[in-house]
Amino acid sequence: MTQASYSCAMSPDHVDVLIIGAGLSGVGAGYHLQHYCPSKTYAILEARADIGGTWDLFRYPGIRSDSDMYTLGYRFKPWEDAKAIADGPSILEYVKETARENGIDSKIRFNHRVVRAEWSSDEAQWTVTAERGDDGDTVTVTAGFLFMCTGYYHYSEPYTPEFPGSERFAGTIVHPQHWSDEIAYADKRVVVIGSGATAVTLVPAMAKQAAHVTMLQRSPTYIISLPGEDPIAKVARRFLSSKAAYAVLRWKNVLAQAAFFQLSRRRPRFVKGLLRRGAERQLPAGYPVDPHFRPRYDPWDQRVCLVPDGDLFAALSDGSASIETDEIETFTETGLKLKSGKELDADVVVTATGLNLLALGGTQLAVDGDEVDIPQTVGYKGMMLSGVPNMALSLGYTNASWTLKCDLTCEYACRLINHMDAGGYRQATPRLAPGTPTQPFIDLKSGYVERALDRFPKQGVHAPWRLYQNYARDILTLRHGAIEDGVLEFSNPKPVAKPAEPLAA
Ligand SMILES: Cc1cc2nc3c(=O)[nH]c(=O)nc-3n(C[C@H](O)[C@H](O)[C@H](O)COP(=O)(O)OP(=O)(O)OC[C@H]3O[C@@H](n4cnc5c(N)ncnc54)[C@H](O)[C@@H]3O)c2cc1C
Repeated sequence: MTQASYSCAMSPDHVDVLIIGAGLSGVGAGYHLQHYCPSKTYAILEARADIGGTWDLFRYPGIRSDSDMYTLGYRFKPWEDAKAIADGPSILEYVKETARENGIDSKIRFNHRVVRAEWSSDEAQWTVTAERGDDGDTVTVTAGFLFMCTGYYHYSEPYTPEFPGSERFAGTIVHPQHWSDEIAYADKRVVVIGSGATAVTLVPAMAKQAAHVTMLQRSPTYIISLPGEDPIAKVARRFLSSKAAYAVLRWKNVLAQAAFFQLSRRRPRFVKGLLRRGAERQLPAGYPVDPHFRPRYDPWDQRVCLVPDGDLFAALSDGSASIETDEIETFTETGLKLKSGKELDADVVVTATGLNLLALGGTQLAVDGDEVDIPQTVGYKGMMLSGVPNMALSLGYTNASWTLKCDLTCEYACRLINHMDAGGYRQATPRLAPGTPTQPFIDLKSGYVERALDRFPKQGVHAPWRLYQNYARDILTLRHGAIEDGVLEFSNPKPVAKPAEPLAA
């Protein structure tokens, strides 16, 4: 379908579908609506002043993807850059280009932070309240269907634990989520606190300019090195069209990720050994691998961190960076004192201590006058909530690239909207049978997940309430599975137009 054939008719205050969030997911949702529901009007409300979400917010040195772009990219738009593990600005440009090429950018209303959405069954629509700008001015938009593409974490409040003595420290303390170009670190002594994806990205990137970078971790993380440029991509692109090469690379990586995840869950000792030998091979002889690269948990109990071309190991090997596995006793005026008694001098301390998870971008929901208590809801197919009508959530995988799931969620949401139209229904609500067993929504033992689980929906133990985190299975369910499954309740038929009264003689 071409852009010209897409209906642009949109009243300022009512749309058929309202997307919240203009990140990777929101732009993808706009694309799918245009292509699969071309008669539907839609708008995107975005809290920030620009497109891109995560890829616009995070500006710290070295910001990059930690999964490959053949699976983090949209299914419909080949990733053509040579780098499979891409830098943040390139990913941001990819999202912006998608929005531009498809006219999605013209649907976005920036500086609109959605705070509340109320469903009325009588009117069969959502009334959505958004704060505009900083002056508390609010606007309302009504919509037949809500598509929440708000990501999964708090944008303004990252997670920073209280560190004793931090007020005494004379240098700079910054969380990566608040990084700005004004933070000078060339020739300075840097300590990065943390061991997750952000820390392992920051350390080699900052080590290029800093006097020295120390990664201070309380406990280690599993780290795997992969080529930044995929050698198979070069071959595939030589012999295949861009689209065909992308499909091949995407499936290759989907299968490789799934195989690695399954192997980690079924043969954790084998995978532990594999990862350890990988680290040993890339570090100088005699390097203390054990304290620094031997996590207390099994691979994929928490996310495995990816480093492109072994850049972290290279920085550790050439001495521009080092690791301390220890705990902070206190900040001092000049750095950090550790529980072992060791002191680390620092000019800049980067607290790569993680995110604060946030469900639905902080939006309060009400259905027919009743407030929705999010932790009491259960995810349906990982993309709707029990008892909440006409609302889809774009939430990606934790064990594979985010966009793989979000693309499928969009396809399903479009199928659902078309199915409702064909059946003349105005309302689709996942109905949970009383007594259905539940479990936490996210199956990872990471601190940032465990801190937030009581504020997130639950999942069930069987389909359609269980989150399988399995792309192949989701293709069958979301792309090809029946929409009517006896759990999703269709109701609220469109009122039949009354025949015109015959004129009196
Ligand atoms: C540093 C970093 C690196 C990552 N790397 C990877 C990776 O390599 N691979 C991977 O699979 N995943 C990765 N992720 C996860 C990543 O967030 C997703 O891949 C993806 O970018 C999420 O896109 P999104 O559009 O769903 O959410 P976001 O990018 O978070 O965008 C959400 C948008 O919604 C807006 N919004 C939120 N609440 C509201 C509201 N109430 N009203 C209006 N607008 C609102 C936000 O302003 C934002 O623009 C990474 C995350 C981080 C933080």
